[in-house]
Amino acid sequence: MRRPATQTAVPIASALGTGQIIAAAAALVIAGAVLIAYQLLDMRHALTEGARVQAAIVADSITAPLMFGDRDAADEALRAFRYAPGLRAVGVYDNEGRLFAEFSYPDSRLPARLPAAGVTPDGVVTVTEPVHYRNTMLGRTVLHTSTGKLRAAMLRYVGLLTVASLLAMLVVAALSRKTRARVAAAERQLDYMAHTDHVTRLPNRHATYARLGADLDRARTQGWQLALLLVDLDNFKLVNDSAGHAVGDELLKQVAGALARAVRPADLVGRIGGDEFAIIAGPVRDRAEALALAAGVTQALQAPFQLEHGEFFATASVGLCLYPDDAPTMIELMSSADTALYHAKHGGRNRFAEFVPAMTAATQRRAALERELRRAIAHDRLAVHYQPQFHCASGALTGVEALLRWNHPEHGPVPPSEFIPIAEDSGLIVQLGSWVLHRACAEVAAWERAGAPPMTVAVNMSARQLREPGFLDDVTRALTNSGLAPPRLELELTESVLMEDVAGAIAFMQAVRALGVRLAIDDFGTGYSSLAYLQTFPINQLKVDRSFVQLLPRRGDTIVHAILVLARGFGLSVVAEGVEEQQQLDWLREAGCDIAQGFLLGKPVPSEEFAARYLGRYLAQPSVVDQILSNSAQVGGK
Ligand code: C2E
Ligand code: MG
Ligand code: MG
Repeated sequence: MRRPATQTAVPIASALGTGQIIAAAAALVIAGAVLIAYQLLDMRHALTEGARVQAAIVADSITAPLMFGDRDAADEALRAFRYAPGLRAVGVYDNEGRLFAEFSYPDSRLPARLPAAGVTPDGVVTVTEPVHYRNTMLGRTVLHTSTGKLRAAMLRYVGLLTVASLLAMLVVAALSRKTRARVAAAERQLDYMAHTDHVTRLPNRHATYARLGADLDRARTQGWQLALLLVDLDNFKLVNDSAGHAVGDELLKQVAGALARAVRPADLVGRIGGDEFAIIAGPVRDRAEALALAAGVTQALQAPFQLEHGEFFATASVGLCLYPDDAPTMIELMSSADTALYHAKHGGRNRFAEFVPAMTAATQRRAALERELRRAIAHDRLAVHYQPQFHCASGALTGVEALLRWNHPEHGPVPPSEFIPIAEDSGLIVQLGSWVLHRACAEVAAWERAGAPPMTVAVNMSARQLREPGFLDDVTRALTNSGLAPPRLELELTESVLMEDVAGAIAFMQAVRALGVRLAIDDFGTGYSSLAYLQTFPINQLKVDRSFVQLLPRRGDTIVHAILVLARGFGLSVVAEGVEEQQQLDWLREAGCDIAQGFLLGKPVPSEEFAARYLGRYLAQPSVVDQILSNSAQVGGK
């Protein structure tokens, strides 16, 4: 069963951007503040040092006036410093800390007593230096320097830093926007790739299931009905294998287009597997609308698709299931649609099937049958029945078809149409087919040895058997063990088996023919007939399907005539299957058909009954047959 996947999307682009820009801005502000503080301290230190040097120079030039108490000379000497950069006042104090002389601008007069060094809140730096004469201190110079210039320089510095920071932020923002756009585009691309099938451009399995989940939620809250259609192409593998993958892809694209046109605009068509599509249609008014949709989808794939390499058919089997009537949850909806699809496929393909609860019972019965079939094999509850084949013109018995029978202890006879597909799906057919082959060869050889006229035995082959590596050895063993001459054995293959892998089938058929064994195409006309291949396949016989024979003599005569002409052209003999009425036999004899098989001439019967009914007059010693039969192979053993 298909399991819906969950979806998680983490948009990366949205995580980039504003947050990062804010972080970059904060980093710039912090770096700027540290730089400004450092610059401020550095400039202030330089200013103080400069003032101290000036004060020392003042001290040198003021020594003599201070020593001699010459205030005029001191004023003169101090005024010489009036142009010193930033200077607001300069003065000299004697050893008692009294102001001796000063030069100052009006707003910066020096105090009468010696001030302390430092910086005042209004930004004036005060430095003092001692005035010495020969190691004797005479007093101190005091210098007031304004930090106004420092402030102006700092403001310029801050302004410059701000402009540089803003420019850097603009560049970061532009780069970030560009990166974001790129990441968003990459994200969109990734999202597209993660949710889109690259061949058909339809939503892929992941996206389809996500949409189904979302639609079911909406259907639940809004009280909708929703239809799920599973579409499985019938013969896609054949196209892919015979025409190549490029043609297969092209066909898938066209099928996707046809499906999209067959549904309503709001419905979703997704590709959920190699040749599987899902259609989510919601809301639907009622079951009738859903059925019409399924019919439309099946109809849309009836016409051949025109590809560069020619015309190709891509019919499909469709399974339909409705929410909430058929299934209340996503898992059950998928499972029920799958069950309906299975029934459409096994009902003959190229059709749709709506889910009905009885199907689940049928699926359960299938599972039970598989278990019981295994048990039947183990307990030897299977048998081979034989249906006679007669020469149309002379009425002589020419051969038999071996048909497998299973008599269930409780259900009674289970039809091959029911258990053969189960055996094929489970692989049991390999064991069963081998048993039928050995048994049929042994019984027919025993009849012949007991005096019956030589006749062919036709044994049905399934695709699984042919793919078994040891198949040819098994055929040789069946012939050797039974002593049956190879031309007495005829293997029946169906067209679909052959068309699955044409090149492989031809090689296999040539190997079978090399053993001397005959080959027939069973149910001719019902599979994927390709007349061109008839020429290439090394076959001996065609078996016209019962569905054509039953239309005779009034209808179907054109087709049967055409098959007879075709077979004659290729040198093949023809068996008409399912002859039930005398008129049909008369028509076939008239038309030149070689062999007839059907209920009119004889139903499939157990071997003893066959021997008694058709071979009685030939078999001198029926006990010989019994003896050989009792020694013949059991199921699974050769
Ligand atoms: P088939 O090989 O086409 O066998 C002919 C089927 O048509 C047989 O059905 C036979 O009983 C039936 N039939 C013959 N004459 C008439 C008639 O006049 N009217 C009607 N209505 N039916 C007629 P059966 O035995 O039910 O087998 C069905 C299919 O199961 C076979 O079709 C064959 O494909 C498959 N099968 C049977 N035995 C084996 C086997 O041993 N191995 C494999 N792989 N398939 C088998
Ligand atoms: Mg057959
Ligand atoms: Mg047949």
